[in-house]
Amino acid sequence: MSDETTPICSAKGCRTAAVWVLAWNNPKLHTPERRKTWLACDEHREHLSQFLGVRGFLKDVVTLSEWESRPSEG
Ligand SMILES: [Zn+2]
Repeated sequence: MSDETTPICSAKGCRTAAVWVLAWNNPKLHTPERRKTWLACDEHREHLSQFLGVRGFLKDVVTLSEWESRPSEG
C-alpha cells in the first residue's frame, strides 16, 4: 500500500494511519440517514468518539476495513 493513499487519523495534528471509522450525524445539519465520517488511529478513537458521543452525534464505530467492505449507500 502506498503512503499517499493511506487514510490518516482525523485528530488535530495526528499523522498516524487510521484504523477506525467513526460514523456520525448532526441532526441539526444532516438528514437522519446521512453519515459523516471521521478517521481515527488507535490512540485517538476514544477521544474522537467521546467528542461526538457527548453531543449525541456518534452513530457507529467500525474498523476501516469493515467500513470499506460495506455496500455503498450512494
Ligand atoms: Zn490519531
